[in-house]
Parts: sequence; C-alpha cells; structure tokens
Amino acid sequence: MNEKAFNGIGASPGVVIGRAYLLDRRKVVVAGQRIEEVKVKDEVARFKKAVEISKAQLEELKKRFSKGLGKSHAYILETLIMLLEDKMLVDGTVKRIKDLRVNAEGALKETIDAIGLKFDAIEDEYLRERKHDIEQVGERILRNLTGHKQESLADISDEAVIIAHDLAPTDTLMMRKDKILGFATDAGSRTSHTAILARSLGIPAAVGLERITGAVKTGDVVIVDGIHGVVIVDPDEETFLEYLKKQRRYKYFEQELEKLRLLPAVTLDGDVVHLEGNIELPEEVASVAEHGGTGIGLYRTEFLFLNRPDLPTEEQHYQACRHVAERASPQEVVIRTLDVGGDKIGFGGVSEKEANPALGLRAIRFLLQRKDVFKAQLRGILRASVHGNVKILFPMISGLAELREAKMVLEEVKNDLRTEDVPFDENVKVGIMIEIPSAAMISDLLAKEADFFSVGTNDLIQYTLAIDRANEHVAYLYEPLDPAVLRLLQRVSQAAHEARIPLAMCGEMAGDPLYASILLGMGFQHLSMNVASIPWVKKVVRSVRMEDAVELAALVMRQPTAAHARKTAETFMHDRFPDLMAEL
Ligand code: PEP
Ligand code: MG
Repeated sequence: MNEKAFNGIGASPGVVIGRAYLLDRRKVVVAGQRIEEVKVKDEVARFKKAVEISKAQLEELKKRFSKGLGKSHAYILETLIMLLEDKMLVDGTVKRIKDLRVNAEGALKETIDAIGLKFDAIEDEYLRERKHDIEQVGERILRNLTGHKQESLADISDEAVIIAHDLAPTDTLMMRKDKILGFATDAGSRTSHTAILARSLGIPAAVGLERITGAVKTGDVVIVDGIHGVVIVDPDEETFLEYLKKQRRYKYFEQELEKLRLLPAVTLDGDVVHLEGNIELPEEVASVAEHGGTGIGLYRTEFLFLNRPDLPTEEQHYQACRHVAERASPQEVVIRTLDVGGDKIGFGGVSEKEANPALGLRAIRFLLQRKDVFKAQLRGILRASVHGNVKILFPMISGLAELREAKMVLEEVKNDLRTEDVPFDENVKVGIMIEIPSAAMISDLLAKEADFFSVGTNDLIQYTLAIDRANEHVAYLYEPLDPAVLRLLQRVSQAAHEARIPLAMCGEMAGDPLYASILLGMGFQHLSMNVASIPWVKKVVRSVRMEDAVELAALVMRQPTAAHARKTAETFMHDRFPDLMAEL
C-alpha cells in the first residue's frame, strides 16, 4: 500500500481527484563548455533559434491571454517579449560565444549574471526589480537550449492537479479552470493572496502542506480535499471510493445551494443582511450576482495592476472602476484604494526589500507618501462614480491623523475636479478598513469621521495575534474566534452602532458559514466574501432567527479560549445545520 496522506490548510473548497503535475521551479543547471573555433557559428545559430522559439512561445501565451480573465495581464508578457530583443541580453550573449568561445548555455548564463550585477548596483528599487524579468526570460531561453520543458501554468494542456512549493498570485491568475483541477502547495495559508484568488476562481486548493512536493511525481494520482486541507497521494481503492463519494456529495450540496441564488438574504424573523462579493478583477463582477450576491463589498484594485512594470494611470483606474460600477449598478461597489506591499508584492515602484513588509510601507501609508499615485487613483474612482453606486474605502488606517490626511487628499482631488468641471458623485461615501488593532481600539473616534466601517479580519487577526498570515508554520494559531479578536470585533460593532454608520466585514471570516450567525448576532449588516461562499452563508442567514444569533454571539463572547468559543459555535451549527456541517 503506497497511500500517503498530508494535512495542511483548506484554502479553496471542493474535492478533486486527478493526476499530479509537479511544477518544477528549480533553475536549470548549465555547464559552460569551451568550444572549438569552427563550432562558433553553429553555437550562435543555436542560441538565436532558442531566442526565436522563446519569442514564439510568449507570443502564443499572449494570444491566449487576450481573451478571458487574464487579458489585463497580457502586458506582462509584452514586457518579456521585448526583453528578447534586448541588446545587452542577445548581443551580449552572442559576443561572449564568439569572444570567449563558450557554448550558448554558458555564454547566456554569464550574460545574465553580468546584467544582474549591473542591476544590483542601481539605486532605484523599481529599476533594480527589472532584473527578475531578465532572469525569467533568460531561464526560458536556457530551457529551450537544453530541451527542458517550460514551466508555465498557462501551458498545461491536460487536466491536472498542480503540486508546487509555492505559487504567486500571478500563477493563480494564469490557471485555466478547464485544465487545472486543483492545486496543493508546501507554503501558504488560508488568507494568503494565492488562496484568496483560488477561491475567487473556484479552484479547489490545499496549502501549507510543508513537504508535499517531495512526495509527489508528475502523473501520480492525487486527491485534494480543499475543505479540510488534506492531500492523499496514491490512494488505495477504499480511500479513492470514499473521496469519490465525498466529491459527489459536495457537488450535490452545491447544486442545492444554487437554488437559493435568487432568494433574498433575510433571517427567519425578517432582518435583511447584505451578502456581497469580494472581487479582485473587473471581469469578476458578473460572478457576484451569479452566486446570489448583491453588490461588491470589496474591490481589491491592486490585483488589476499586479506585476506591471509601472503604476497604473488615472485613465486605467477610471476605466477599471467604471467597468465595475456600470456592471454592478444599481448595486453598490466599494472600491478600495491600492493596498500594495505585504504579500501583494511585485508592484511597480514599491519596495520589496523591507524586513517586515506587513509592518512596512503598505496600503494607505504608501499612498500618503506617494500622493501622485493616490491622487491619480482617487481621480479615476471619482470620475467613475457617476457611472454607478460607488463608495471609497481606505485600507490599513491605523489612527485618526491618517484618516484625516487621506480625506484631505480626497478633498483636494474633488476641488481639482470641480475646477476642471469634471463630474463626480458629490455624495460619495468614504469608509475605512478596520484591520489594525489600534483602529479597532479607537473605533469610537474613527466612527465620527468615517461614513462606514469594513472590518478586514485577515489583517486584524494577523496583527492582533502576531501571526504572519502567509506563514504556514504558524497558520494553526490563526484563530478568528480568539477572545481577543472577538472583543475587538465587539468594540468596533458598538462604535459603528453608536455613531449609526453601516458596519461591514470583508475579511475571509465573513465568508465562513460557521461564523455567520455569530457575526449577525454581533451586529454586522454587510458581509462581503468570496463569491463561492455566498450561497453557504445565505443558507445560514435564511435559517436563523436574529434573536438566536444575538444569544449565540453573547455566549461565544463569554468563552475564555478560542477552543471553547469554537466548540460553542460548532455545537450550535451541528444542531441547526447537520447537512451543511457535514460538508465543512
Ligand atoms: C483583510 O485584511 O481582511 C482584507 C479584506 O484585506 P486583504 O485581504 O486584501 O489584506
Ligand atoms: Mg487587509
């Protein structure tokens, strides 16, 4: 019996069974060899051919990306194609083959290393980061020279379950849903951005498995249970049949939930709850209504601009926001200003070299330092506000001074637009993310100056419990029901209610049906989540009485530890929703 089971974290729900594809991110090892004079011409020709093949591969990828979800990312490929014509890279390598009489692999490797050194010496962070693009292109040429396969998720043509050490958010975006059945990674956590993207694309995934890449070969049969974070390699017949049954049951249950799509999210005693969608890309707007959501509670604008060499312009902001606002209208769209930094790295002009990026120049801090970037985005959003029901959300506000400064910049931008006679919604509401403990602690003060609150539990839990949200080694400590977290939530709710401003939650906690009744009982009127979670949470909302939810919240609040609180929540849910709990 060869069956091996691995436990990690359920990152995106669903059960998949399929053949593994081990994504090899190791660098190609090359041997630099001296060649004879007569071979120089052939070697140059061989190198040039590899460049041409690389170009054709990238062109092909670009063509594929000009359609569908990935189309806003085609420019990444354009940058890479341009580098294949770069003089330093191409002519530099040819010159080395000729002058040093080395083979193409050795000459290319030396050229890339030499360019790398030059880039390292550059002061400007952004320019220095271009080194990665050169390395990526160089690696592609090397793979074509040595006959190694290219490792891009977009190239995978047979159905497969991807096994990788880690995936970047861009990798996830390149996944074709019809080919990639699911994925499992050594690294990552439930709230890492790769996991969030997997959920929004509806691809089942388990992360934080620590050593799955060492245990799987391409072609092995694997099962990924994205609900419980379990991966089974080479399952025996009994396990295989058991998971086949689980997969069928899960699909059936999803279909049952689908029937709730058009029904409103109201409790048994008539309280209306707003279930909204979190989106990362403008193309996802339609999926919110398709899953039975009403409006967009969080549009994470940074994902549209992932990995681009420069920062987005006002016009690009305007076009993206207008697209979202128009399509969601008359429902509301909460547009969050850029939250760059942290694990959302790879943005033009943003430093990637901080020792503690989560505590560094991120989100509103970055925007207040780079007012040009901030203003360009605010102008774009405001201009788009006449095309729908737009609200603005500032990320990572830690105190009153920061909120006031951000609002002042907004006022300046509004004044500029007025002077220029550019129309915008004069009543646009401005809310703040409550995702730093300091903001939760002074939420009574902030509530007087913000139009609404949206609680970001992904960061709030990270900062409250001192747990890196992307670190698989501490993921087991990440606990939404920790009494410290619950007390902060309670405090924020009280502040919002006293100031009579709307209270929303848009962190991942809002999309977990286990917590839904507690959050209702605590007074959250808007829950914004991954679209796939909407039917699950709606099922709970439509089957509870607000009275009971308030009682449950009070009971959970009295528990001394997270484990006690969890037990209380689970007991309540098992009593009320045995079928749903069996699927969780
Ligand atoms: C959060 O922190 O909970 C949140 C919604 O924002 P993000 O996950 O984009 O940091
Ligand atoms: Mg956050």
